[in-house]
Amino acid sequence: MKQKVLFEELTPEEFRIRLAEAPIAYLPLGTLEWHGEHLPLGSDSVQPSSFFQELAIQVGGIVMPALFLGPDKMEVVNDVEYYGKDRGNNFEDEKQRYDKQILAGSVYWIPDSLFISLLESILKQLKRQGFKILVAHGHGPSTRIVMDHSELWEAKYGIKIFHLWGSENDDWNGFMYDHAAMLETSVVMKYRPDLVHMENLSPNPDIWPLGVRGYDPRFYASLEKGNEIVNIQMNRIVTKLKEALKK
Ligand SMILES: [Zn+2]
Repeated sequence: MKQKVLFEELTPEEFRIRLAEAPIAYLPLGTLEWHGEHLPLGSDSVQPSSFFQELAIQVGGIVMPALFLGPDKMEVVNDVEYYGKDRGNNFEDEKQRYDKQILAGSVYWIPDSLFISLLESILKQLKRQGFKILVAHGHGPSTRIVMDHSELWEAKYGIKIFHLWGSENDDWNGFMYDHAAMLETSVVMKYRPDLVHMENLSPNPDIWPLGVRGYDPRFYASLEKGNEIVNIQMNRIVTKLKEALKK
């Protein structure tokens, strides 16, 4: 039988056993956010959640439900709020520019301060249960806040924090290092090919896919690329977690 790794599916005894074997919690930092016409709105949950389930089978630990709330840049123009990719006009590449607009399906934004207190509440309770390690990754701005607070939170909660980016990582094979472009599209193709609809994008190479940032997914995304990205990160984080568990 396949190991159970999802927090919400464990009985208290299964929880005790998994926690004693490896006191690692995995937190997918998701959103419900526009990811182009071709990807699901929950792409930021699907990717880390699937990856963490594979990782937990390899090194132990428990996968938490994905958050769907996260911070992002925001602007208010004429009393209308624009979040993240809604802001549109910030791209350096002219072809990728578009007008500010409320992109369909984005329902995730919370201010940095609320996200920080949410994470602190989670850490406090993970510590109370006896977790020693947190792996948190997903939506860029959420992951960045966790990275920026790692040192402080490690000292405060005694929980070592990891993510899936790193200086040894090649950004262009990074895990969730673009927006709905080659990297994210390839990883969703790997884990949930049924949710990827490339046919929703224009075949005209001169029309850039709206609200997509990175290498054009129409020409560069593939299952092979998804496997490559996942393998790089998997090897890196498995080594790091095994070292951390020895301490
Ligand atoms: Zn994303």
